[in-house]
Amino acid sequence: MTMVVIQQELPVSLVPENITRLTPYAAGKPIEEVQKELGLADIVKLASNESPLGPSPKALEAIASIASKIAFYPDGLAPVLRAPIAAKLGVPEEYLIFGNGSDEILHLICETFITPGISGTVQADPSFAMYHIYATLADAKVTKVPLVNYTHDLEAIAGAVTAETKIVFIANPNNPTGTLVTQSEVDRYMARIPDHVITVFDEAYYDYVEHLEKPDLLPYVLAGRNVIICRTFSKAYGLAALRVGFAIARPEITDYLNRGRSPFNVNMVAQFAAAAAWADTDHLKNAVAINSAGKKQVYAALNKRGIPYVPSEANFVLIDVGRDSREVFDALLRQGVIVRAGAGLGLPQHIRVTIGKPEQNERFFSALDKVLDI
Ligand SMILES: *Cc1c(COP(=O)(O)O)cnc(C)c1O
Repeated sequence: MTMVVIQQELPVSLVPENITRLTPYAAGKPIEEVQKELGLADIVKLASNESPLGPSPKALEAIASIASKIAFYPDGLAPVLRAPIAAKLGVPEEYLIFGNGSDEILHLICETFITPGISGTVQADPSFAMYHIYATLADAKVTKVPLVNYTHDLEAIAGAVTAETKIVFIANPNNPTGTLVTQSEVDRYMARIPDHVITVFDEAYYDYVEHLEKPDLLPYVLAGRNVIICRTFSKAYGLAALRVGFAIARPEITDYLNRGRSPFNVNMVAQFAAAAAWADTDHLKNAVAINSAGKKQVYAALNKRGIPYVPSEANFVLIDVGRDSREVFDALLRQGVIVRAGAGLGLPQHIRVTIGKPEQNERFFSALDKVLDI
C-alpha cells in the first residue's frame, strides 16, 4: 500500500516567532548510518567526544542486575546517585539536581529563569550549540561574545551583561575549541558579575582537564553565589546513551529547577549504572590516562605534518584544515572516519576530532593524509 503524504504549511499564527528561528541540532553521524550509506564495514567515530574506553564494567553489571526491576517507576530523586556524589563533592544533597543528560538541565535552567521576550542570555561564540537552542526556545534574547584566540573572553562576557541578562553560559573547557578559562580568570569574572545573573559553568569535560589552574567553582556555590555547575556521565564516564547529567547549585536554585522537572527524568537503569560508574574511580583514571596519551599522540602527528590546531583541555582537538571543512568531512567519511565539520559550528576551516584509542588515532591520520594529499 502506498501512503499519500499531504504537505501543507502550518498557519503562521500557530508558531511563535522564536520557534521559527530555531534550526535542529546537528548531531555527529551514527556509525550505523554511515555503514548503510557508504557500504563500509569498518568505521571509526571520532565525532561526538564519546569515550573510546567505554563504560566501567561495573556499570554494565549494574545494568544487568537492575533489568528485572524496570516494571517499576524509578525514584525520581535518584538517591542511589545523589548520596555518593554529594558525599564525594562535600555538598549537602539538596545542592544536586539530576537530568536526562546535562542537556535536560540546561533546558530546565532556561525554562525556569527566562521571562519570555524579556530576559537575555550571554554566551561565547562559538560554544556549545544547545545554549542558543534552549535560550531561544524559552524566548530569550541571545547575546554572543566572540572567542578571543579560541578562548572565552570573560571580561567581554561580563561587559555584555545588561539589566535584562538572566543567564551566562560558560563551557569550561569550551566545546568546540577545548580551551579552558583558569581559576584567576574565573575569580576576576565572579568579582564583577552582578547577582541578578546566574552563571552556568558547563563542565562536561571536567575530568579531562590537566591544566594546573583548573578552576574550582564549588566554593562559589557554597558561598551562596548564583552559579550552576553542570557535569555529565556522557563523556569521561562513557555512558552517553544512558543520558545522565547533574548540576550543583545552591538549594534555592535547585528548588526552583525541581518545580518544572519531569518526575522520573533520569531512568532507573541510568541511575544504577551511573552510581556504579561513579564508584569505579580506577576506570575513570584509566579513561583520563588514555585520553592524555592519545592527545600527545595526536599533537605529535599534527606537529609532524605542520597542521595547526588548538591545544585542548578536553577529549577532542580542533584542527585547522585550511580549506572548506565540509569537503574534508565528506572525504574522511568516505575513508570510514567520522569527525565533526566545523562548518556547522561556526568554524568553516576546522574539524573537531575526538581523541580515540591509539589505533583509532592512527586510522584518522592515514585517512587525513589521503584527504589532504600530504
Ligand atoms: C557533550 C556536552 C554536553 C551534553 O552532555 P549530555 O550530558 O550528554 O547531555 C553538555 N555540554 C557540553 C559543552 C558538551 O560538550
